[in-house]
Amino acid sequence: MPKLDYLIEELVTANRILAREQVVDSFGHISVRHPDNPQRYLLSRSRAPDCIEASDIMEFTLDGNPIDARGRAPYLERFIHGALYEARPDVMSVIHNHSESVIPFGVTGKKIKPIYHMGASMGHDVPVWDSHDQFGDTALLVENMAMGRDLAKLVGAGATALMRGHGATVAGRNIRHAVYIAVYLEVNARLQKQAMDMGEIKFLTPGEIDKVAERTGPYGINRAWENWCRRAGRTMQEEQG
Ligand SMILES: [Zn+2]
Repeated sequence: MPKLDYLIEELVTANRILAREQVVDSFGHISVRHPDNPQRYLLSRSRAPDCIEASDIMEFTLDGNPIDARGRAPYLERFIHGALYEARPDVMSVIHNHSESVIPFGVTGKKIKPIYHMGASMGHDVPVWDSHDQFGDTALLVENMAMGRDLAKLVGAGATALMRGHGATVAGRNIRHAVYIAVYLEVNARLQKQAMDMGEIKFLTPGEIDKVAERTGPYGINRAWENWCRRAGRTMQEEQG
């Protein structure tokens, strides 16, 4: 199967999985960098992730202009994706979501940190981007490249950033990796809140986070992917490198 067709199928599956695993609801999106042109990316038209079909996937320039819209309305917050691809040549897939359990950590100053091994993929530090710092009162949406670039700057070389009063953005080395980080960011947030209610938390040490990260590859990610595909009613494709 041509790489472009493969990635469009992966993207549809990723949307359904993110919906099934409660990372996205009617809002939120995932993109992938174009396999033939690193200056472009693929992202659905504005539609709830659980409804997305292959025909919804559009192509964009990094600054968010659709290549062949054919009447399809794009997401207002597509600039998040292009800004991340522009800043990070290593990033091949980006997720933006309003993952529910994560929201409290963006507004309280309580840091989200890996509480168990599955949460280690969020990395050593998850910064919180506050759109108000640079842009004042807005509708909170990342609706232009200036906002997208400001967010991408804060993500830096990391895997994710929370967005104050809004959600989170995740950057991965491929679609499955980005989904893996986003799912376990949501689960970690839920468990961390439960643990906070019980008392003092012993988080993973920096050394433990590094050790888990070294082991986080296709072996574990594809095991999760197969299970998530089944739960989402999608066929798992053979992975293309
Ligand atoms: Zn949003």
